[in-house]
Amino acid sequence: MTLLGDIQISRCNSQVIWNNWVPSSVNILAGRLLHKRLPTKVNLEKRGIPLLTTTCSFCNRADENEDHLFRDRVFTNRILKEILVWWGLDASFVHNNHSILDWADILFLPGEKRKAFNGVIFSFLWLIWSLRNRKIFDNVHRGKEELIFSHLQALSFFWIKQRSRLPSFGLKWALWCTSPNESHDKKANKRSSPSDQSQLKINTNEMHQINSNEVLFMDGHENKND
Ligand SMILES: [Zn+2]
Repeated sequence: MTLLGDIQISRCNSQVIWNNWVPSSVNILAGRLLHKRLPTKVNLEKRGIPLLTTTCSFCNRADENEDHLFRDRVFTNRILKEILVWWGLDASFVHNNHSILDWADILFLPGEKRKAFNGVIFSFLWLIWSLRNRKIFDNVHRGKEELIFSHLQALSFFWIKQRSRLPSFGLKWALWCTSPNESHDKKANKRSSPSDQSQLKINTNEMHQINSNEVLFMDGHENKND
């Protein structure tokens, strides 16, 4: 078991993971993923809920299970790789059999960086699950990959910025987008430009639409028609 700040991870005992830099509902989503209790089509079928099909609503080629949704889909796989590039992390450490919930451990991220990176991973889970629900319940396509990645950056920034509240964690938007690994460095934060605020406003405006829908998505996750 690793205990870092108030983030606790234990794969052996299948305990998650509470990261208070992201909302409770996001932590709950991650916990359900770890325990394979998310209402994916495959899990719903296992529970005896009759479905027309268990195939993924996006590609119609593979069963909709946790691995496919959050790792193996071409789209999600690209986003995950983009996260590693964004954080300047070596992708060669990460293998397909590693849970993305373990990435921060595998990549040896220290202290606050680990917690922030996990916050990004949790935000990623939330975003992917929201897009999945949006597709199934509202038949809305996920949109462009670049836009989704920008949403991920904005969403994770917004949550972590609001919740971390540590004196040393003066998170700046410009720095977050370019060098999140440096975001904890006070000197680096002082270099970020005054236009940060206006840029953030644009991104958070885009993000609010997703956030308001996400509440509905979470409410609908137990939908028997899934
Ligand atoms: Zn698919």
